[in-house]
Amino acid sequence: MSTCTVTDDFTPVAIELIKSARPELKIVRSPSFRPERDTLLKTSYLLIRSRTLINKELLDQAPDLQVIISATSGFDHIDLKETQKRNIKVMYTPEANVNSVVELTFGLMFSLVRNLPASSKIIADYKWKNQLPKAFELRGKTLGLIGLGRIGSQVAKTATFLGLNVSAYDPYIDDSIFKNNQIQRVGLIELLRSSDIISLHVPYTQETHEFINEKTLSGLGDETYLINTSRGRVINEPALSHALKTHSLKGAALDVFNKEPLTKKCPLYGLKNVVLTPHIGAYTEEAFKRAGVMAAKKLITFCENAEVSDALPPLTEWAKWL
Ligand code: NAD
Repeated sequence: MSTCTVTDDFTPVAIELIKSARPELKIVRSPSFRPERDTLLKTSYLLIRSRTLINKELLDQAPDLQVIISATSGFDHIDLKETQKRNIKVMYTPEANVNSVVELTFGLMFSLVRNLPASSKIIADYKWKNQLPKAFELRGKTLGLIGLGRIGSQVAKTATFLGLNVSAYDPYIDDSIFKNNQIQRVGLIELLRSSDIISLHVPYTQETHEFINEKTLSGLGDETYLINTSRGRVINEPALSHALKTHSLKGAALDVFNKEPLTKKCPLYGLKNVVLTPHIGAYTEEAFKRAGVMAAKKLITFCENAEVSDALPPLTEWAKWL
C-alpha cells in the first residue's frame, strides 16, 4: 500500500476526493509542516503548501518519494535541483490563486490612490477629510506591469476595463499576447519612467532577485506608486524604504516581504506612505479550496499515469534562472 502524506491545512473535500478515487492509498496527515522521519521513509506522494520546505535534508529521508504536489502558485519553497536529481515529479496549482491575487492587487491600488488607510484612521481619530490630501482617479493613468503571466495578464484585463492605460515588461512573452490584450510592450527603463503605478507579477528567480533596487528606483518619478503582490525578495527593502522616506516615490503597497512574518526590523515599518498586508494574496476561502481540490485532482491523475499539466520544470524560458 502506497502512502500519501499530507502536511498543512487541506480542505476535507480534497482529502475525500483522493480517498474515493484511490481507496488503495494510505493517507497520513502530518501534524507538523515537516513530516517525521518515520513517515517520510514510507511516503510515495507528498501533498504540501508553502510552509513545508522541501530541501536536500528532507528528500534524503524520503527514498520512495515519487511526486510532490504543492497547493501553491509559487515553488520557491522547493529545491528543484534536488528533486530533479532524484527524478521526483513536482506539481503545483498556480491557476487556483489568480483571481484572489488580482482582486488584492486592485484593493491595494485603490488603497494607495484613494488614501483608504489614512481615511479610516482619520475617522478612528474623530477627525474629518480636511486632514487629507485630495486623492486621484485611476481612469486615464498608466499602469506598468512587470510580469505578464497568469496574474499580470488578468490584472491587465481589469485595468483596461477601469480605463487605465496598460503597459508591460515581460521579455519571455510573445508579442501576440500584448497585441490581443491591448497592452503596450515597453522596455524596463521606459516602464519605470512612464508609469503612474507599477505592479510586480514576476516569480522570484536569480534574475528577479532585488529587481527593485537603488538603481531601478532612481528611474521612477516621484509621483509613482509601487505595488508588490509577487514575492518579497524581488525588492531591496532598505532601498525602497529610503525612496519612500525621501519621497522620491509617492507610495508603496506590499503584500510580500524579504522576511515573513514581518518583524519590527523591517525598514518599511511605520512609514506613512505605505500600505502593508500580511501575505494575504491567496488567503481567501475560494483560493484555499480551489488549490486543495486542484492538488488532489493532480495526484489522482498522476496515480492513473495520465498526462498531468503544470508539472515542473515549467517550459517557460525564465525557469532557467531558478
Ligand atoms: P506566472 O508564472 O504565470 O507569470 C510570471 C511572469 O513573469 C511570466 O510571464 C514570466 O515570463 C515573467 N517573468 C519572469 N522573469 C521575468 C523577468 N525577469 N522580467 C519580467 N518578467 C519576467 O506567475 P503568476 O501565477 O502570474 O504569479 C506571479 C507572482 O505572484 C509569483 O511570484 C507568485 O509566487 C506570486 N503570487 C503571490 C501570491 C500572494 O499571496 N501574494 C499568491 C499567488 C502568487
